[in-house]
Amino acid sequence: MECSKCGGRGVISIRYLGQVLCKECFFNYFQEKIRKTFVQQRLISKNDRVAVALSGGKDSTLTLYILNNLRQKEKFELFALIVDEGIRGYREKSIELAVRNCEFLGVNYHIVSFKDFFGFSLDEVVNSWPDTLKEPRSPCTFCGVFRRRILNNTARELNATKIATGHNLDDNIQTLFMNVVRGDVKSILKSYPERKISKSFVKRIKPLANIPEKEIAAYVLLKKIPVYFGECPYSWEGMRNLMRETINSVENFMPGAKINFYNYMLNTLSLMKKRFIGKIELKTCEICGEPSSHDICKACQLVQQINNFMKKE
Ligand code: SF4
Ligand SMILES: [Zn+2]
Ligand SMILES: [Zn+2]
Repeated sequence: MECSKCGGRGVISIRYLGQVLCKECFFNYFQEKIRKTFVQQRLISKNDRVAVALSGGKDSTLTLYILNNLRQKEKFELFALIVDEGIRGYREKSIELAVRNCEFLGVNYHIVSFKDFFGFSLDEVVNSWPDTLKEPRSPCTFCGVFRRRILNNTARELNATKIATGHNLDDNIQTLFMNVVRGDVKSILKSYPERKISKSFVKRIKPLANIPEKEIAAYVLLKKIPVYFGECPYSWEGMRNLMRETINSVENFMPGAKINFYNYMLNTLSLMKKRFIGKIELKTCEICGEPSSHDICKACQLVQQINNFMKKE
């Protein structure tokens, strides 16, 4: 395989470009794409204080490296937030790598655990959740709600102006499809990158939002960035796996379908935002005081349920 640009030794085939690229040409292509995202979406402004949600996996670690690189040129502060959900045999290893990368780059980091924040680890919740309760169905439901709460509150306490996450193109499309088939318009609107519906929410940025997972994995491996490739023992969420397979089949049949769909989603959400975002009314959670669309926010509802069945044990 020859590189389509320079004739060198090709290392990656990018089907939607109809090109095979060598290592150097792939790095240039990848870095230029990221640079354009930062400029076009104005992801970072001078004097920002950015918290990277760092897990130790490839996506968030690459986000950390990219932002660290950028802060050499732009003036903004950077630190990492590492959430320890309490998943034995999995999270310890990824945290170890996350810490190692922060120390290597000289980036400050903070570790916050589910246990300290909520009083229980994810393993404890999963092990004591009664079989008879069907909702919420998967550990990912607790995990996602609690992780978002910890990230937002800790980032806010530490005066962050933005939270950067490592969500990639594949994650974004899978989530959108899942919300579409569930008919969950509110969640779709909430996923719009420019949403800012309450001062209590720290703005989120996703520098890798338009990069396919395959390219991120290739970049990290070719750059020899130490990341954790282990899989969470709870990552069996059936619906997401089905979406992943379906979307990959469409991409195989029609290369470029993922990025076309992502752009379509951004345009549509931009129109929907004009119509709906101003009308989303948020209440204040009666328990924790955080903004919520219900009288009691999702995190507090889940905590109440968990405390109830833990007491019964
Ligand atoms: S796969 Fe699910 S349970 Fe595991 S870390 Fe991700 S969201 Fe949490
Ligand atoms: Zn080349
Ligand atoms: Zn609450």
